[in-house]
This record gives sequence, structure tokens and C-alpha cells, in this order.
Amino acid sequence: MSAETMDKVDLRALIIATADTIVAHAEELTALDQAIGDGDHGLNMKRGFEAVRTEADAFAAKPLPEALKAIGTKLVMTVGGASGPLFGTLFMALGKEISAEPDRANLAAAFGKAIEAVAARGKSQAGQKTMLDVLQPVHEALLQGKTAAEITDVAGRAADATVPMKALRGRASFLGDRSIGHMDPGARSVALLMRAVAETIEGH
Ligand code: ADP
Ligand code: MG
Repeated sequence: MSAETMDKVDLRALIIATADTIVAHAEELTALDQAIGDGDHGLNMKRGFEAVRTEADAFAAKPLPEALKAIGTKLVMTVGGASGPLFGTLFMALGKEISAEPDRANLAAAFGKAIEAVAARGKSQAGQKTMLDVLQPVHEALLQGKTAAEITDVAGRAADATVPMKALRGRASFLGDRSIGHMDPGARSVALLMRAVAETIEGH
């Protein structure tokens, strides 16, 4: 993910790749949410990303900031649950901060602002067994100039690291100590999305 490749990335390909991975892993995400939530996360995310995929051409025709804002709005309208507004906020805030042709520094800064927006929306922070526990390390990896493959690795390990954590936000927090020993579904979703983005950019 060099500064050179960023502006050449095919937004349509990114939309298709992220939607396809969420759809392919919907049952796994649901199973994770069945363990520590209400079992709707896979379906929520599948519904939202399928809606985005349906309009991939229209989104991809927009400049990157507008596309991300429109995708975020679509996710808020379609995902539902606690995660809908949070994933929606992530994309909307990213769209607000990113340039039309971002370099690494702009991407990292915009991603940082987007995470802050999610944290504000969720009244949450990293360490509470949520999607933020993957977003945060990914942001750090971006700041450190890590490659797409390394960022995928960081995201996967960050999702794994939610297993021993105790949930302090969202439905899983109702379980208290019984939330320990299961991966956070939202964290897994972010890791899947990051891998799809990284593979699409690398394969470019
Ligand atoms: P719901 O919890 O309403 O059923 P989902 O199952 O779709 O919604 O999403 C659950 C995921 O949302 C969790 O795994 C977690 O990652 C994320 N989440 C929930 N509440 C918060 C919060 N306050 N801050 C950050 N992420 C959260
Ligand atoms: Mg749920």
C-alpha cells in the first residue's frame, strides 16, 4: 500500500471484495455472536454489505470521499443492531477526512479520525472487546508504514486477542466474565474487511 498505489486502487473491486468476504463469513460471524450476543451479527453485516454491493457501480463512480460517505450512510440504513451505526460512522468519518487521492499519511490520519468517531459514537475505547480492538492496532500499523500483508496479520492477531478479553461494551458485556473465551464478532468483521482490502490492494 504505497503512496503510489493508493490512487490507482479500484474502488469497485474493493467494494466487491469486502462484501464478498462478509457474505462468505456470515455464518461464522453469526456463530460468534450466538456465543456472546444475540446471534444477528452475521446477518446484519451480510444485509448491509449486500446492499452496498448492489450499488457498487454508483458508489465507485463517486470521488473516494463521497463514495465512503455514501457507503457509510447505506450501512447505517441497512446493517442495524449496535454495529450498524458504528460501521456506518467508520465509513462516513473516513470519507469526511480522506482526500480524493490519499497518500499513506492522509490515509493513516483519516483512519485515526474515523476510529475516534466510532469510539465517540459507541462511548467505547480499545480494550473493551469490540471492533475497536482491531481498528486501533490497524491504525498503529498504518502509522508505522506496515505493508498490506503485515496489516492483515496485525488485524487477524488483534481479533484473536479479543478471545481472552472481558466484554465491557455492547450486548456481550451483559455476560460479564462469561464473555471471556470467545472472539468478538465485530472485531472478526473488521479483520475480515481489512484482509479483503489488503488483498485487493496487493493484487492490484
Ligand atoms: P447487536 O449487539 O446490537 O446485536 P451486532 O451483533 O451486529 O449488534 O454487533 C455486535 C458488535 O458490535 C460487537 O461484537 C462489537 O464489536 C460491536 N459493538 C457493540 N457495542 C459497541 C460499542 N459500544 N463500541 C464499539 N463496538 C461495539
Ligand atoms: Mg448481535
